[in-house]
Amino acid sequence: MRYDLHCHSTHSDGLLAPAEVVRRAASRGVDVLALTDHDEVAGLEEARAAADETGITLVPGAELSVSWEELTVHVVALGIDPSNAGLLAGLAAIRGGREGRARRIAESLATAGIADAYEGARRHVTAERLISRTHFARFLVEAGHVREMKDVFSRYLTPGRPGYVPHAWAALSDAIGWIHAAGGQAVLAHPGRYRVSPSGLARLLGEFRDLGGDAVEVRSPSHDASQVAQFASLARSYGLAASSGSDYHGPGESRVDLGDLPPLPDGVDPVWKDW
Ligand code: AMP
Ligand code: MN
Ligand code: MN
Ligand code: MN
Repeated sequence: MRYDLHCHSTHSDGLLAPAEVVRRAASRGVDVLALTDHDEVAGLEEARAAADETGITLVPGAELSVSWEELTVHVVALGIDPSNAGLLAGLAAIRGGREGRARRIAESLATAGIADAYEGARRHVTAERLISRTHFARFLVEAGHVREMKDVFSRYLTPGRPGYVPHAWAALSDAIGWIHAAGGQAVLAHPGRYRVSPSGLARLLGEFRDLGGDAVEVRSPSHDASQVAQFASLARSYGLAASSGSDYHGPGESRVDLGDLPPLPDGVDPVWKDW
């Protein structure tokens, strides 16, 4: 069975509509797909209908933005009830902060000489209520400030660079609580991406586990081979299961396509063990 448990649609910062994501995954041999839009479940209904037509198994998901210590971390929710009121309120609260943040990102870019970035990013937004740094990144490429999407985040939008603004997302305890109340599993997304010391990583994993977190994303395009081994080993020692997801955002933007990650390494408990 081929699992891909992390990807995005036009309901957040992906380039394909939910039905297109589902059909693409099915045609590429994915058996079980989770659609995990940032802070949003609105694409799941369309994804469900497409999954029923193609015969692929759809796992309802989302990717929650969380502030932990001074970092932003992402928690993938798998197997949630997308109509759960507490989860919906939590997601709405996270999304609510994005508009003001986008204004502040644009002000920061203006200070660096890049005008009208808010309007520019808005032109790339595909779901009215979700504006993300990806939309600013697409604007920066379109406006010629950076040649390729893969180079945007090293020059803009990240700590120390123009267009980065600090932002308070959900608390880790709240995010895990909402996911569990909605019947889902909480997965710490792409841990290799966080700029954190070894002791900080240990604190993050320990806290995540103590709060009831279920799994760690071991396979991710953000991880090289040594990080896959590192997080497989950490998952085992923290008693967490392991997940795998392409984090696909769309053609031309994602190096790893739907379903293209290798299987999980041996010796970990897959997050889908009891599905
Ligand atoms: P936001 O949730 O608005 O902070 O936007 C985060 C999104 O920006 C991520 O989900 C990615 O799609 C994108 N992103 C962040 N950092 C990078 C990076 N270094 N390279 C490519 N995309 C990135
Ligand atoms: Mn994204
Ligand atoms: Mn993420
Ligand atoms: Mn993602």
